[in-house]
Amino acid sequence: MPYPFEHLRSDAQQAKLFREKLPQLNAAMPEFFRTMAIAQHSIAQKNMFGNPQGIRQDLGFETALRLVLMAGLNERLFTINEDTKSLVNLLRLLVLKWYSFGNQVDACLYFGHYFYAFQSHSQYAVKLLMEQSRLVAPEADKVVPNKEGLALIGMSPEPRWYKSVDGVGDKLSTIFLEIADLATVDAQVSGFQVHFKKSNQYDLRAPLFIRADAIEVPEVLNDKVIVRCPHCGQKCRGHYFRHIEITCPKCQGHWSQRM
Ligand SMILES: [Zn+2]
Repeated sequence: MPYPFEHLRSDAQQAKLFREKLPQLNAAMPEFFRTMAIAQHSIAQKNMFGNPQGIRQDLGFETALRLVLMAGLNERLFTINEDTKSLVNLLRLLVLKWYSFGNQVDACLYFGHYFYAFQSHSQYAVKLLMEQSRLVAPEADKVVPNKEGLALIGMSPEPRWYKSVDGVGDKLSTIFLEIADLATVDAQVSGFQVHFKKSNQYDLRAPLFIRADAIEVPEVLNDKVIVRCPHCGQKCRGHYFRHIEITCPKCQGHWSQRM
């Protein structure tokens, strides 16, 4: 089964920068990936009744996760006071980057299983690991963020979300999230929690949560549709089809989206 970001690769220069700017993470990531790949094989095995066997506790996954968190703290990607949700988001970007250096897709599948499908459980585990690291972590208010490191793992360009009949997509990439893989959240911040429980096609390019106000809902008038250009923000008009392709009259930027 093809994986949504299977072909994502970074060049040798990016790998070199990663080694230079994030040496502790560069040392901690292989073990993290190794334990996640084993955990993925473990949950993929079915018992005689066809149910997943579950994960053995002695796989070293939590230990490896703790070491990655410590490395990230020491390398100033985040501080000990980082909000758990944004911390998990940084972990996701880190795993995506490490994958793009040619590492195992199985590790990414486990990351997705653990962090998207079991959000409250995994976020609680991360919170506990961070609390246990509090005494040895650098003091938050003395930490200067590692801008180069953050830029290296950051996704560029940032996704430009739009709503369609059957899901949420990004105008600038092939990311598309089906309705059944999302849960509507109507709390202080409303939006969609991304859990991939229907498709299990964990697309690590997608965040765990997308704010409603970051998602454009197209205006539809009879057979016409009005959508914003993801490059310059210009309102563009097109014919209503299930799949539309638009070239912006202002900046000549091109994109496609579903309706
Ligand atoms: Zn434009």
